[in-house]
Amino acid sequence: MQFITTYKKYHQPTLRSTLRHFALSTLSLLKNPSEAQIKQKRITFTCFHSYFPDNEVNLRAQLDFMAKHFTFISYSEGVSRLKTGQIDDNYICFSSDDGYKNFYDACKVFDDYGIKALVFANPKVIGEQNYETLKFYNNDRLSHGPMEFLGWREIDELLEKGHEVGNHTYGHRNVGNCSDEELQEQVVESYKILKEHVGSDIHFAWPYGSPNDINQKALNLIYETGHISAAAVDRNSHYKALDIQAERSYLIREQIEPFYPVNHVRYFLSKDYS
Ligand SMILES: [Zn+2]
Repeated sequence: MQFITTYKKYHQPTLRSTLRHFALSTLSLLKNPSEAQIKQKRITFTCFHSYFPDNEVNLRAQLDFMAKHFTFISYSEGVSRLKTGQIDDNYICFSSDDGYKNFYDACKVFDDYGIKALVFANPKVIGEQNYETLKFYNNDRLSHGPMEFLGWREIDELLEKGHEVGNHTYGHRNVGNCSDEELQEQVVESYKILKEHVGSDIHFAWPYGSPNDINQKALNLIYETGHISAAAVDRNSHYKALDIQAERSYLIREQIEPFYPVNHVRYFLSKDYS
């Protein structure tokens, strides 16, 4: 019984990932963004997956960089500012998908920066302890080796500290190709479980994150259920008011993993999407 608990064990470099790394390093060196390019009036919703102890130094370096140029806000504040169009600063907020136990450790770092983060969890595996179940689920739904997930007790502690919990479907299913019955379980039942526990507003982020992994029927159901936002993953920031709830649409989160080198993060966060 062995869980993946280090980045070194989690990340198996491929030719593609190595080439991508060097391409990004070259690009960020060539572009060397100015402060004006980084400081824009916008909201950047970020998204990451896993955080490991051997990412701590790098995550702190990322946050030191961000603290100089951005104003940290909670995900809920980001959604609220997006709706009202109060986008008068360079805002950034943090979310994490899949509900890994290591989100709890990431929050210890976030706490030092006064950051309130949101975790999109899957109720099916919250507090799951069975090794074989976890091994199968991680392999089948998340395509990696066995990892542990947050339990309700850890979630309670995070909520007490001001962090947030959102819905990432009941069991990490692709809602773009679910039957009506499956959608009820993945969207509605999952919402009910989280709402009952969390109490406050529930945000939604669909698994796999691309516009191909969602459809309008699922989006309509997400909002009819009571979720106050839905989110995709892509390279983007938000500059203008957007009432995603009324429009039955979604916001876009920028993927920034705790292991990304700071110069790559600087490069991603200097792009202008206005
Ligand atoms: Zn996911």
